[in-house]
Amino acid sequence: MAQIHLEIVTPDRKVLSQPVDYVGAPGIEGEFGIMANHVPFLSALGIGNLYYKDSGKYHYVFVAGGFAEVSDNKVTILAEVAEKAAEIDVERARRARERAEERTRLQKEEIDFARSRAALQRSLARMRCRASAESAGTCVL
Ligand code: ATP
Repeated sequence: MAQIHLEIVTPDRKVLSQPVDYVGAPGIEGEFGIMANHVPFLSALGIGNLYYKDSGKYHYVFVAGGFAEVSDNKVTILAEVAEKAAEIDVERARRARERAEERTRLQKEEIDFARSRAALQRSLARMRCRASAESAGTCVL
């Protein structure tokens, strides 16, 4: 099967760089999927889970914010934050969820509410990322 090169970078590190069969990513306007020889494409990223298929298995990476670009049979993910499933500290995500839930209950100001909601989305997506990778048997570094 023809492959496409996937590279995921954040401002401080290269998270991943390898050929894959398929990439699904959380665009701000919904999920999009990319296979080999896709037309050039650019999208902003939301908060959620990127997944890719390699050797018949699905792997999961949490991403939050940034851009995805496809050109010359390469997908470049310039993420503000990205973590492979195995790098996620689930306890930390749980604590972040509790704080965010508490803040969304208490806050009335719209801006603070939006920030708390984004923090809640990040924590839930991190937990989902870890659970998906564990059930796919790909929660490894
Ligand atoms: P917290 O409140 O726990 O910091 P957050 O969602 O506000 O969570 P971010 O702003 O998304 O955190 O990330 C800040 C840095 O901390 C990033 O480098 C990110 O990769 C890392 N990070 C945050 N939460 C986790 C986690 N649960 N497991 C691993 N790394 C994390």
